[in-house]
Amino acid sequence: MIEIVSRERCVTCDRCVEVCPRNVFDRGEDGVPVIARQGDCQTCFMCEAYCPADALFVAPFARPEEPGSPLRDEEHLAATGLLGSYRRQIGWGRGRTPGAAVAVGPELPHSPPPIVTPAAGLGATTERGAR
Ligand code: SF4
Ligand code: SF4
Repeated sequence: MIEIVSRERCVTCDRCVEVCPRNVFDRGEDGVPVIARQGDCQTCFMCEAYCPADALFVAPFARPEEPGSPLRDEEHLAATGLLGSYRRQIGWGRGRTPGAAVAVGPELPHSPPPIVTPAAGLGATTERGAR
């Protein structure tokens, strides 16, 4: 579920607002999206995948994180490399190879779900263990 929009990183491009299939975001007055309907999030990671600034974090769980969770702490997510890590892991972004998962990286405190890679085709999955 979407947890973080980094005001520090956001470049107000509106991509997350456009790609979200559940209309979770509102555009803030300053252009930075606001998580307006978190309960509608379907944890599809599309917003994080499309964000060019690695400014979003979608936790791999269907319920919101509890207050005080490190997965709601932007500073922690930035320091551990988790902020925007889904996009990085699927290889989207300048200098990255689409479909290539990183070999090493920070780990979540829980087992993440597998991700289906377009290159691997339907039914094939790759572990998101580096996230
Ligand atoms: S994870 Fe999917 S449903 Fe949730 S905010 Fe991002 S794009 Fe919208
Ligand atoms: S996609 Fe990223 S940079 Fe663009 S508006 Fe959304 S959070 Fe900001």
